[in-house]
Amino acid sequence: MNKNDLLNQYIAENVLRQTSQWNEDGSEIFNNIVQIFEFANHIKFVPCNTYSKECYLMEYFGDVFLVFDVYMLETLLEMNSIALNNRASKDMEKLAYRLLSEEYFVMQRYAVSLFMALKFKGRSGYHYLLQLSESNQKTALTYTNVQQWFVIAHEVMHQYYAEYKRENPDYQAKRIYLKNVLVRHGFVDADTNDTINDWIEYIDKNDSIVEECFCDSTAFIAVMSVLSKRISIPDLATALFLGIQHLRAISYIKTEAHILSSQKFVGEDIFLHATIRIIHARYALLDHISDEYPDHKSDASNKLQQSFIQYNEKQIDSIVRLTNNLGVECVNIHAENIQTESAIQRFILDLIK
Ligand SMILES: [Zn+2]
Repeated sequence: MNKNDLLNQYIAENVLRQTSQWNEDGSEIFNNIVQIFEFANHIKFVPCNTYSKECYLMEYFGDVFLVFDVYMLETLLEMNSIALNNRASKDMEKLAYRLLSEEYFVMQRYAVSLFMALKFKGRSGYHYLLQLSESNQKTALTYTNVQQWFVIAHEVMHQYYAEYKRENPDYQAKRIYLKNVLVRHGFVDADTNDTINDWIEYIDKNDSIVEECFCDSTAFIAVMSVLSKRISIPDLATALFLGIQHLRAISYIKTEAHILSSQKFVGEDIFLHATIRIIHARYALLDHISDEYPDHKSDASNKLQQSFIQYNEKQIDSIVRLTNNLGVECVNIHAENIQTESAIQRFILDLIK
């Protein structure tokens, strides 16, 4: 078995999908990004299509691969369409069942995957499929394309971080910036010992949040500089910010799937990490716009605020409610063991198609 076979076998553990509605595999975007960040020209781009919908860097026998899952894009397109429609809460609940079913399928927990798939199928059809206007359909596609640029640029920046972290003063500056943003916008009080100051301590002790935010803001800058020729700055900012919020929602669902499955609490760090990343994204985007594209600042600021409030009220709240209610129901199903025959697996995949 050669190196590529091993890599493909590793990717296939996330369960390959047969079809995709997202046609671009991202290689062209990756090549464009490598032209901007030349240090990345040794990275090999590997598109795939799996139920885990994750993009990540991996080092394998001395080579660096960027594994890019097109199913993530397909899911982001759905989430953009849902966000642009006014029945977002109901549609998001339906989607959450499917995402949970997929997560359990990858974990080979077929009984609970089937349970979630039936819940998904039992819901009425997506409202956005019936109601989304033609112009919003186009906007959803544009947003998804911007997010594809972002996801690839973000992963490339992780490699930059790995190679140049120590020498890079921007990285240390990011930790200070991150704390300033929280204080400046009233999320933490610098003068009191409020419990919320735990956030500051978290940033001080935790390199991964600084790395994530560093990769986010450098990717924002790169994507805006390339795409601002054809997409307006407020639209770019909205697409980028929505992308971060979608990624947070997906990872929330994945984390909840593991919590529900093990009945163990994995710690609040994951949720704090996600919250800080969202706050950082909002203000890093605005600060960059106010430096480079000052004419668009107030429009972008209004759009991001609106997006933040609406996303929490509709999408996030409905996922939290749904997973909280699932807790009790799931205990019994997790105890059951169903046969892992391929007919059952095919049945589940048919339900969530
Ligand atoms: Zn990352």
